[in-house]
Amino acid sequence: MRGTMLYCSGDVRFEEVAAPKIMVPTDALVRISATCVCGSDLWPYRGLQKIEQPMPMGHEYCGIVEEVGSAVTVVKPGQFVIGSFFASDNTCPYCQAGYQTSCLQREFVGGAQSPLLRVPLADGTLVATGEVPPEEKIPDLLALSDVMGTGWFAAEAANVRPGATVAVVGDGAVGLLGVLSAKLMGAERIIAMSRHASRQKLAREFGATDIVEERGDEGVARIKDLTKGIGVDSVLECVGTQEAMMQAIRSTRPGGSVGYVGVPHGVELDGQALFFAHVRLHGGPAPVRRFLPELIEMVWDGKINPGRVFDLTLPLDQVAEGYRAMDERRAIKTLLRPNGEA
Ligand SMILES: [Zn+2]
Repeated sequence: MRGTMLYCSGDVRFEEVAAPKIMVPTDALVRISATCVCGSDLWPYRGLQKIEQPMPMGHEYCGIVEEVGSAVTVVKPGQFVIGSFFASDNTCPYCQAGYQTSCLQREFVGGAQSPLLRVPLADGTLVATGEVPPEEKIPDLLALSDVMGTGWFAAEAANVRPGATVAVVGDGAVGLLGVLSAKLMGAERIIAMSRHASRQKLAREFGATDIVEERGDEGVARIKDLTKGIGVDSVLECVGTQEAMMQAIRSTRPGGSVGYVGVPHGVELDGQALFFAHVRLHGGPAPVRRFLPELIEMVWDGKINPGRVFDLTLPLDQVAEGYRAMDERRAIKTLLRPNGEA
């Protein structure tokens, strides 16, 4: 089969690769219905993360179970499933505490930008929908594999409560879905930090009440202005840079919370500043698996449309253009369809 490989900065190829196989009895093979390019795929694509050898790409997926290993008892061939970017057994103490992305058996799921994907720990990782979804629900369900679950976790980690005032740092797919999550959790005022007209528009449609275009010190000052000098109750940090993290901490009122889900690149915190900020910090790789059943139900009932973050859809063999469009910020997020690729 053909799959997506990253060779070096800017060099993504769709080329002949070995088809995945069941390797251990807890594996499943999933025939991909749709996959996508993640903001985090852009770090190695931009050369900001070293690549030792050509790397299979993609960790967001949904599709039909094609084959299961002999120890898989819950997931069945023919089911439509969604899973997270980390495989988890869903039974260990960390999974039971709701932190499946810290599972004691955790394993990264890679190579999803291809027609067929091996998913380890299938029974713990995959969640099946009641029936095979109609075509129009596929983008919404795919979004649950990472970005919607991550935005949801950012809002939960930021302790968003009914009536709260919230700020969201980052206007990528996760930040935008963080806005939607904060809205669903009952936030009254949601300040989206964005400089891009199309993203501002989607943020407003997802529930943002205010837009702040400034960044850094000016961004913090603007948020203080909007909150009578107090700061917000909750900040969702969806970027992962030093500037974004400090903006998040400094925009939060004493006793408030920062939920951080941007993968940190060069973030360092000063103990003194943190001590006197009086804020709660919680974050990390979102335990998407915990949220899947509830989020699938919301999509199924038509209550949310997180797939609206996909503003570019391409056949999988044009994956390189999907990366370029996101790298150049021409697209928020690229959806890829295998379209008969074998
Ligand atoms: Zn576990």
